[in-house]
Amino acid sequence: MRLRCRVQQRPGSRDAIAPCGTGAAFAATQLSNKEHMPLSASRLLLVEDEVRIAEFVIPDLSAAGFQVTHVKDGASGLAAILSGEHDLVILDVMLPVLDGFEVLAKVRETGNAIPVIFLSARNELPDRLAGFEIGADDYLPKPFFVEELIARIRAVMARKSGKVIDEIQVGELTLNLISRQANWRGTVAPLSQREFSLVECLMRAPNRIFSRQQILKNVWGINFNPETNVVDVCIQRIRKKLNRQARDGKPFPIETIRGVGYRFQLEDE
Ligand code: CA
Repeated sequence: MRLRCRVQQRPGSRDAIAPCGTGAAFAATQLSNKEHMPLSASRLLLVEDEVRIAEFVIPDLSAAGFQVTHVKDGASGLAAILSGEHDLVILDVMLPVLDGFEVLAKVRETGNAIPVIFLSARNELPDRLAGFEIGADDYLPKPFFVEELIARIRAVMARKSGKVIDEIQVGELTLNLISRQANWRGTVAPLSQREFSLVECLMRAPNRIFSRQQILKNVWGINFNPETNVVDVCIQRIRKKLNRQARDGKPFPIETIRGVGYRFQLEDE
């Protein structure tokens, strides 16, 4: 098992990151075999003003299959949450503009039940209880292990869904979230993580046109060279894998929108 660092608060600094050689026994008992469990590309919103913490956790969250959006203050966090574009929120408590408690209170006032995990160096029992009182789904004290954060995200999502969702289907295309296989009209093919995330990204918003830049951001993460042709190459690979048996000439549902990008075409039944 891989265990490298944990996010930790140093005395005198608000949210610092330090190498860690302790806690391996704890982490080993918490993780069991789940760290290799395949994931859907759930969309996480990270609201965290400490850039170093964000830079530390985002690569691991992305490697675990999550799509992560990062904002740095409470007001931006609130707006992002209310946009409805995320599946779960990781919410720091001590934030500029609005603190995490204020953000969640406003979110719950609107009736929005999005899963929220607080991250906070405010670890006293009254703080944690206040977080749950407002409507948090979990509360993870800093310092924390990224592996534990991932385990808690998975647990909250499984609880919220009420069941283990292992498949999504749109039109005639099915994605198995466990085996990461796609099935289009009887042609079954395993997809790489990127291929899978790309197909899922398009499937979750049928008929919506995504630019290459939006796909790069959603699937590959931020700060990716916009000149790259990896999206087109990835789409070609997906089509090659799944479009082999289109005997009746029915086109594969991922459609190229010339000069713009791609969309998952869902015809009216
Ligand atoms: Ca903070």
